[in-house]
Amino acid sequence: MLRALADCNNFYASCERALNPALRGVPIVVLSNNDGCVIARSAESKALGIPMGAPYFQVRRVCEAHGVKVFSSNFAAYGDFSARVMAVLQEQARDLEVYSVDEAFLGFPDMPEADAALLGQRIKAAVWEQTGIPISLGMGPTKVWCKLANEYAKNHPHTGGVFVVPYAEAARLEFLKHVAVEDLWGVGEGLGARLRSHGMVLASDLATADPSYVRKFAGVVGERLALEIRGISCYEVDEKPVTRQSILVSRSFGRPVQDLTDLTEAIATHAMRAAEKLREDHLMAKAIVVMLRTNRHRQDQAQYRADEVEVLETYTDDARLLCAAATRALERIYRPGFIYKKAGVYLSDIQTAHTVQPILPGLGTTPEGTRPGLMKVVDRLNEMLGPDTIRLASTGFERSWKGQSAQPSKATLPWAKPAAGPKSRLRFHE
Ligand SMILES: [Mg+2]
Repeated sequence: MLRALADCNNFYASCERALNPALRGVPIVVLSNNDGCVIARSAESKALGIPMGAPYFQVRRVCEAHGVKVFSSNFAAYGDFSARVMAVLQEQARDLEVYSVDEAFLGFPDMPEADAALLGQRIKAAVWEQTGIPISLGMGPTKVWCKLANEYAKNHPHTGGVFVVPYAEAARLEFLKHVAVEDLWGVGEGLGARLRSHGMVLASDLATADPSYVRKFAGVVGERLALEIRGISCYEVDEKPVTRQSILVSRSFGRPVQDLTDLTEAIATHAMRAAEKLREDHLMAKAIVVMLRTNRHRQDQAQYRADEVEVLETYTDDARLLCAAATRALERIYRPGFIYKKAGVYLSDIQTAHTVQPILPGLGTTPEGTRPGLMKVVDRLNEMLGPDTIRLASTGFERSWKGQSAQPSKATLPWAKPAAGPKSRLRFHE
């Protein structure tokens, strides 16, 4: 099995640049939530010597002197980019393990070295074209090797951002002669010191040692490391689908809302948006929670807050089913006489669409009128004509509850194509 580690370059800074391509070549830093510290730097900012984690006041003058664009972090947008990158990677790989917001391990069937290099370049290009995010890719026989290869790709421009660990053993050993044991993935101070005290200073020392001997002084972790560096995989790429654990859509009303009609429209609108999010990520949900809130800062008004769950018969991404369920839940918790400030829906019990067992005709209950094709058409039309062009009548026409505060839709990339379905997974059948 061939493995790979895909890692987004300067992820947050790259997201800002993807949102505004005019920033290409311009140094960028992103600051932490309260604009306190530098949490991301573009390559140009790194070259200016701006340190990671530096308080902004310490680097402000450098930034101003060099025209560094400074951004407050926008984690909602970064999360969105992360999901897009992962969706593209998922299409290209047989297995995918999302390791962090900007890193994923991929698994492929074995293939010749030259093919691996081509595949790597193709994946990198696909992510760039569809998301505007540059990635580095390290490909090799084990996760420890992938991590090394990724570092190498990142730090050596001649690789074009993709490095395949040499298949020839001699070449691998040569590579490891330039790597200190402490620089191997998962080697902390303790393990590093133990390896060194047994004469293993370079990764090549570890690769030529007898793994069972390493185990005697460095435990199972050391033994596995020795095996991984020999190209024997001990850590699998877990196929953890890119599953969001929950989806929340809620908003404060533009004006105080009291009657059930307005609330129903708001809840239906939120449910429709939540269903859209599901479909964007190829997910399905089986439970929807409706939340109602009065204004807790107005203690002069009667207070009421309620959460009500409605469990569906099957997993679905169909807006009509989710809206109907949300409406039923709302009707159970609605109390007249209160002034509502906020309403929302929350989807839980989420699975990837392709892991959900379809119901065979005649077995179980197939929800009335669920036609996935219809939702695809709705998504396509809204994509072409603008958000909300086609929507359910239950979301209302006046929508006065939205008030002034209705937010514009989030910025999308003009060149970003929507991720296609998981069609290409079949390509890698062994
Ligand atoms: Mg990264």
